[in-house]
Amino acid sequence: MIKPIVVSGIRPTGYLHLGNYYGAVRNFLRMQEDYNCYFFIADIHSLTTHPTPENLQAGVKQVLAEYLACGIDPEKSTIFIQSDVPEVCELYTFLNMNAYLGELERTTSFKEKARKQPENVNAGLLTYPVLMAADIIIHKAEFVPVGKDQEQNLEMARKFAGRFNRMYKQEVFPIPRPFTFDGGDMIKVPGLDGSGKMGKSEGNGVFLYEDPKEIRKKVMRAVTDAGPTEPNSKKTEPVENLFTLLKIVSTPDVVDHFEKAYNSCEIRYGDLKKQLAEDIIAVTAPIRERILEILKDDAYLAQVARIGAEKARESAVRTLQEVKEVIGFKRLF
Ligand code: ATP
Ligand code: MG
Repeated sequence: MIKPIVVSGIRPTGYLHLGNYYGAVRNFLRMQEDYNCYFFIADIHSLTTHPTPENLQAGVKQVLAEYLACGIDPEKSTIFIQSDVPEVCELYTFLNMNAYLGELERTTSFKEKARKQPENVNAGLLTYPVLMAADIIIHKAEFVPVGKDQEQNLEMARKFAGRFNRMYKQEVFPIPRPFTFDGGDMIKVPGLDGSGKMGKSEGNGVFLYEDPKEIRKKVMRAVTDAGPTEPNSKKTEPVENLFTLLKIVSTPDVVDHFEKAYNSCEIRYGDLKKQLAEDIIAVTAPIRERILEILKDDAYLAQVARIGAEKARESAVRTLQEVKEVIGFKRLF
């Protein structure tokens, strides 16, 4: 039986946080038995923020160890480093010819990044969705497990894949779809700072690698409000965010307990935070231990990366050959 293909990746711009885990990695873990999965470290994407060579290298190693520690299994999935598959840059160039300035400028992620780093609004940021589309369609992926923040970028990938097929009147690329853990909506893990998503560059991450003491400290410092004064009142955004996190990491009876306490105005945010911190630690502590172990084993990490690169290149080279034929690059000699 041919397994559907899945592609996803994370930028090595810092430690993996709960958003990366629940938005992307955990979906992926669920898929590796029944799908043909490619999971990569998006080191080319990370160049938009100009890391030093040392930071880039350390980031790649860290994320590779973290993937493995989370349970992505190199025997079942293809784990690779994006820059080990240079074919993706070639496809990116071709796709750029059919990606329009207006549509790229309109994407929220571009507008966000341009706002956050006004001194560095580079062309790579603008064409980020094009490279992301190339990452996905170079393996002819049908599914992409990503968080809500990537919804629009994935929509762009669908657009570019469809546009290429229509332009050359051939079904070269499947149109990739999002994949979520429970088949529901794409998930957005909030930060502890009151608003917005948890993100590496937001500086509000709770990291898988973090030690329990630090996690407790962070969670106890999370933004809340003065507390409900009327029964069943609407939650403010910071408190809603804490409940969202609780729903993600805790059991339904715990959530229920604090919902009831909130609705009857008896809630003590300190209790909620303590519970939340412990439930986060229950998820992260075993992963952290494995990360520490795996980071010690350079030979194993190198082997995983080498085998992954071979497998990913095989698939990428095949697609690229087909793409070049379709475009009309015929050999003259
Ligand atoms: P950066 O700030 O450098 O963009 P990031 O924290 O947003 O980092 P990415 O590498 O951009 O992480 O994203 C990797 C994956 O993690 C993507 O699939 C993305 O959808 C998912 N992801 C990131 N943050 C969240 C979040 N808060 N909730 C759900 N999914 C998330
Ligand atoms: Mg991001």
